[in-house]
Amino acid sequence: KSSGRGTYKRFDAAMHAELQAHQQVKIALKGALERNEFELHYQPLISLKSRRVTGCEALLRWRSPERGMIAPSDFIPTAEETGLIVPIGKWILDQACRQAASWPEHISIAVNLSPVQFRHRNLVKAVADALSASRLDPARLQLEITESVLLDESEHNRQLLLELRGLGVKIAMDDFGTGYSSLGYLRSFPFDKIKVDQAFVRDLPHGKESLAIVRAVAGLGHSLGMTTTIEGIETEDQLAIVNAEGFHEAQGYIFSRPLPASEVSKLIENPL
Ligand code: C2E
Ligand code: MG
Ligand code: MG
Ligand code: MG
Repeated sequence: KSSGRGTYKRFDAAMHAELQAHQQVKIALKGALERNEFELHYQPLISLKSRRVTGCEALLRWRSPERGMIAPSDFIPTAEETGLIVPIGKWILDQACRQAASWPEHISIAVNLSPVQFRHRNLVKAVADALSASRLDPARLQLEITESVLLDESEHNRQLLLELRGLGVKIAMDDFGTGYSSLGYLRSFPFDKIKVDQAFVRDLPHGKESLAIVRAVAGLGHSLGMTTTIEGIETEDQLAIVNAEGFHEAQGYIFSRPLPASEVSKLIENPL
């Protein structure tokens, strides 16, 4: 009996500590947003046909005065758990659209959306506001979502995607192949673009299974009338394969790492 009570007490203390840590990170992220410590870097997407930049993906960074540059994987999960990804996500949309409006008209901008942003009723308004404030042509904005967005309440989220599409923006399925039932999602929603996850690129050119999957997705994208993109291209061998398989676009360190706005502008103006 007493050990039971003790266990309960320890659990309680652990929960308390966890809650406090959670509160602290929440305060840190909130402060980061207020002090303007977030910044967007931009990674070019290259047309494999023309070898020109077609657009850039906005990737979030946290420039912390104490800890230096922090990668999104280190703080986005906490931002999602605390709900702060909603105001941060709004800042990202505003900033990315404003930046893209300064680029030539044929250059698009891709923005990643968190599944948590989908649970908030203001997502459509946040996107519409970013577009109108920047005067960016909606057709130049691509929203990247992962399969997890369609996992829960799929009918609600499907309607939301259609509403976003109604604004004139494009919808891309990101990290394709890493989720649970990717093929079903392609049937339930007419995506404009599929981005194959870099996991399938990593063991190219030698991985037979990865090659078979990459080939199949290229074919699928063509049959469904979707733009096919592949991420994480690092070597000439990998590039030769995705080129041969007929992908429309590629993204990866072989072309460019994500760059600050000032540097990516130069790259857009003087193509590779
Ligand atoms: P993602 O959307 O799939 O973005 C691609 C990631 O792959 C980026 O990592 C990019 O730097 C990295 N990458 C690009 N080319 C290569 C390559 O050739 N080799 C390797 N090894 N990596 C490459 P990053 O910037 O660390 O972002 C990681 C993830 O964090 C993103 O994956 C996305 O899921 C999330 N994320 C980033 N920015 C945002 C944002 O603004 N909002 C939201 N909700 N999520 C974001
Ligand atoms: Mg992405
Ligand atoms: Mg991706
Ligand atoms: Mg990825």
